[in-house]
Amino acid sequence: MIITQYDESKVKDLKECVTQVLTTVGEDLNREGLINTPERVAKCILQFTSGYSVDPIAVLNSAKFKEDYSKPVLIKDIEFYSLCEHHMLPFFGKVHIAYIPDGSIVGLSKIPRIVDILSHRLQVQERFTREICQCIQQALQPKGVMVVVEAQHMCMQMRGVEKQGATTVTSDYSGDFSSSQMREEFYKQIGK
Ligand SMILES: [Zn+2]
Repeated sequence: MIITQYDESKVKDLKECVTQVLTTVGEDLNREGLINTPERVAKCILQFTSGYSVDPIAVLNSAKFKEDYSKPVLIKDIEFYSLCEHHMLPFFGKVHIAYIPDGSIVGLSKIPRIVDILSHRLQVQERFTREICQCIQQALQPKGVMVVVEAQHMCMQMRGVEKQGATTVTSDYSGDFSSSQMREEFYKQIGK
């Protein structure tokens, strides 16, 4: 999500916080490379949390169409970057989403868009997965939704808690995907 207009009072508050962090760790704020760092970091933080101000269900509703198609619609390999709420460190990877329409479909670009909105909030992977599933369920009332998220967590890798490159996989589903046969079909289609 690209921000073109920043809230100047928030930038100012965050700049002060970042300056405090840099001072606390013993940095010299007059070093050339650090002169604009507080402002850059402040803007990054606002960008990474910009999803709070957008309603994903409204986004889906804005591009909902009546359509008779009732076979699964699968969108796989949607890239995302988010911040874990425990450490404010990145976790990132791919989201795979399928839904079975029940009279309504949604403009396809809106599915990656809600991933973008929900990932630009402080998250845990489990809740992120569930929220994507619930938004689609609520907005489209489909026969079923399934969401699988595969991610790497910097808070585990950089802190040495987990082996490099380990992937965490979470899933959530509703409706027709309660059938294990449907879920197997989903996994087959995403190549798992
Ligand atoms: Zn974490």
